[in-house]
Amino acid sequence: MKAKVVLTIPDSLREQAEHLIAPNPESRMRAVIGWASDNVDRREGPFAAGVFNLDTGACLSAGVNRVLSSGCSVAHAEMMALMLAQQQAGVVDLSQKGRFVLTTSAQPCSQCFGAIPWSGVAALEFGADRGDVEAIGFDEGPCPDDWRERLEQRNIRVHGPILQTEAVAVLQEYARSGGDIY
Ligand SMILES: [Zn+2]
Repeated sequence: MKAKVVLTIPDSLREQAEHLIAPNPESRMRAVIGWASDNVDRREGPFAAGVFNLDTGACLSAGVNRVLSSGCSVAHAEMMALMLAQQQAGVVDLSQKGRFVLTTSAQPCSQCFGAIPWSGVAALEFGADRGDVEAIGFDEGPCPDDWRERLEQRNIRVHGPILQTEAVAVLQEYARSGGDIY
């Protein structure tokens, strides 16, 4: 019986994200979409996310979908970014360390939507929307129709779609490459 789970992002992604300053939604989304495209080149899911300080633009963590390489269905980009941000900040609740935004290349699935309130982020930014993700066959799960309002009610601002055309292009690149759909 296994007693340990290890999840990692590629070293090259960490190096790109480590000194990144992205002070506005478009610059953050452009970075995240680039990471998602790199992940398609690695034959992984076409999704990426990052956690950024809203006041300084500094990138705290980067995540990409690692479901296939890790063999873990939970290893979505948003989960990777949130877990790494919490490890980096040394707190479970990021609001204790400042105002942070989770920027993700696509609207969170039901799992990631569910994880956001406990992370302590102050805002969510997304690129492609649910319809874009489902159009290439991915299952977004049972998100409530009023998911945006549910986050807003918890004082988490929601912005998106941002750079939707560019975000959708990565999804289509993945579909064209014949990547696994799950
Ligand atoms: Zn997810």
